[in-house]
Amino acid sequence: MLTDKFGRHINYLRLAVVDRCNLRCTYCMPEKGLNWIKQDELMTDEEMLRICSVFTDMGVDKIRITGGEPFVRKNSIELIQKISKLNGLSDLSITTNGLLTEQYIPQLKKYGIQSVNLSLDTLDSDRFFKITRRNSFNKVMKTFDRLLEHDIKVKINTVVMEGQNIEDIIPLVLLTKDLPVDVRFIEEMPFNGSNTEVSLQWNFARIYHHIKEQFPEIQKTEDPKGSTSNNYKIPGFLGGIGIIAAYTRSFCGDCNRIRITPSGILRTCLYEQGGVNLKNEIRAGKTDKELKDIIINTIHKKPKDGWEAEKLNLSSSHIHQSMATIGG
Ligand code: SAM
Ligand code: SF4
Repeated sequence: MLTDKFGRHINYLRLAVVDRCNLRCTYCMPEKGLNWIKQDELMTDEEMLRICSVFTDMGVDKIRITGGEPFVRKNSIELIQKISKLNGLSDLSITTNGLLTEQYIPQLKKYGIQSVNLSLDTLDSDRFFKITRRNSFNKVMKTFDRLLEHDIKVKINTVVMEGQNIEDIIPLVLLTKDLPVDVRFIEEMPFNGSNTEVSLQWNFARIYHHIKEQFPEIQKTEDPKGSTSNNYKIPGFLGGIGIIAAYTRSFCGDCNRIRITPSGILRTCLYEQGGVNLKNEIRAGKTDKELKDIIINTIHKKPKDGWEAEKLNLSSSHIHQSMATIGG
């Protein structure tokens, strides 16, 4: 089993299959997009599959496909199918914005995808346009309905932003009344691919108190090990509520995750710059054994928490990275 120097077992890999996206969420990237990764720098399907297989061999049993928007990558559904067949994998999931997802839902079900995280910051189509800079609210809602029809667990991801979607918090909580969905409210992080500063106005505590004011009966529920969300429930409601302290970083203590960027960089913490590039090591002819040694050494150096990682990140760039390149 993969373990870091603090004794944390690493069993969860988040694989960003592409950095490109068909939305332009203001908190994630500028209107003109990013300096996209060049085709020859992007990992091939074979390289991604090989990396996943090396990790599952080392005890990783949970993989999340993310991006950018996963379904913008050509034939990503075939890659997902191949990954789903890896030995030792017990949980394969996807994070998607839902725009191109609907058509693939029957296949996702067939490949054993149990859970999809659907990003939805608002239940209002005008606000959706302001936040994502695209007019695609109805497509996302169709995907939402179809996922539920297919009995795939849906977790809605909502980034909470002053002046943009505060009026959506309570309606989103109310979605959990009759639907078996979890809504997770996320603190905004400074990964917006531009030099725009983020001053966090809605932190974990403020989001919680806002919900509690409306639902004083809110109850704490169990947080599974490695969970990034603090979980709650309104008694009698079918679904649950999560609040993710993504910026204030209270969950690093039992972090079990690592990330691979679309170009193959292994990042052991969301807030670090990332070091070794596994795609380059594969292209240099490394064997699986050599890749495993590199991975063990890199994971051993995983920072204690996101604060330490940020301190170690010596980049002088004032342009923030984007969640789309990191693999949110
Ligand atoms: N495109 C897909 C989507 O939006 O679901 C997957 C990739 S996206 C980068 C993954 C998650 O990161 C989304 O739920 C999104 O809301 C979240 N995210 C992106 N930028 C963020 C930021 N600056 N702060 C907090 N969450 C962010
Ligand atoms: Fe695209 Fe997801 Fe970033 Fe929005 S959050 S721009 S959907 S990658």
